[in-house]
Amino acid sequence: MTDLKSMTPEELEAYFKELGQPKFRAMQVFRWLHGGVESFDEMTNLPKTLRERLKEECLLTVPQVERRQVSQLDGTIKYLWRLSDGNCVETVLMRYKHGNTVCVSSQVGCNMGCVFCASTLGGKVRDLTAAEILDQVIFTEKDCGETISNIVMMGIGEPLDNFDRVLRFLTLVNHPDGVNIGMRHISLSTCGLVKQIDKLARLGLQLTLSVSLHAPDDETRTRLMPVNRAVGVDLLMDTCRRYFETTGRRISYEYAMIDGVNDGDEQADRLARLLKGQPGHVNLIPLNEVAESPLKPSRRVRQFQQRLESRGVTATVRRKLGGDIDASCGQLRRRIMEGETHTPEEGST
Ligand code: SAH
Repeated sequence: MTDLKSMTPEELEAYFKELGQPKFRAMQVFRWLHGGVESFDEMTNLPKTLRERLKEECLLTVPQVERRQVSQLDGTIKYLWRLSDGNCVETVLMRYKHGNTVCVSSQVGCNMGCVFCASTLGGKVRDLTAAEILDQVIFTEKDCGETISNIVMMGIGEPLDNFDRVLRFLTLVNHPDGVNIGMRHISLSTCGLVKQIDKLARLGLQLTLSVSLHAPDDETRTRLMPVNRAVGVDLLMDTCRRYFETTGRRISYEYAMIDGVNDGDEQADRLARLLKGQPGHVNLIPLNEVAESPLKPSRRVRQFQQRLESRGVTATVRRKLGGDIDASCGQLRRRIMEGETHTPEEGST
């Protein structure tokens, strides 16, 4: 089956040319798909015969809302989508003064194995297609009836481990005739895959790169993030420096604050030394507790922040949104999927 929604307008033109259709069909179909149609019959400006043909030959992904949790505290909405093959992914809609931000997933599960993260507990099931990443934006907008102005790729999965499809998604979501979200309104978060960071740098996109650092030394970082065994903090920081030199875009470093693990004064000092002379910014994230993990949130977040600031490093503390609807990303999917395979009653909490 042909996945039209993952195609660029140029690819659609080539596809419709093959079918002997006029060139303008490409943009007609592109607009319908990006507008969130749920069947080919909704494409009312196409001849019926063409619609029938598309139905036979093409895929039309329409994720179903499996769960929708709305925060009573701040209006954050967490969606669990059921994909066409039965797998589930999460998307979160966050409301800020400057507009709505959607946090999208890039894979079903994840292979990176970070010990504090719920998304990686069952490993990676599969990569999402560009259309399935895009669907999260389109159908969140459709479901909540509000415009989305920013995207963060911080949901389930490691986006740079699904490089080509993620890049395709970025091209599509950026298109003026589609969702039309500018690169400067998109952030992409990575656990630090250096080859792919270099590859991304060469593309010179104006998006914001966030790097999940979480520790300033190899010993602690390897304990938290197995990916560090292959890369190491020094190589990662060299790569980040290069990224800035090539793109001119400052990197945002994410640092989940974990009690007694990475929140000491000496670690703040070490982090400050690591970032010295590098235009970057540290985003301290209060750890979300994951049921399967013994790690606890740090009680020293403010102190750590002040220590960084006093050493010339800009650091902000991430505001926690949707605290009442579920814990960190990946947990809802896990609960629902596990509930179904093992104990069905668990899925209904
Ligand atoms: N694979 C990407 C995107 C992951 S999620 C990456 O590693 O960056 C986005 C951020 O949330 C990452 O910085 C990730 O390390 C962090 N994170 C994951 N689980 C968390 C938890 N339980 N508490 C706080 N931050 C967490």
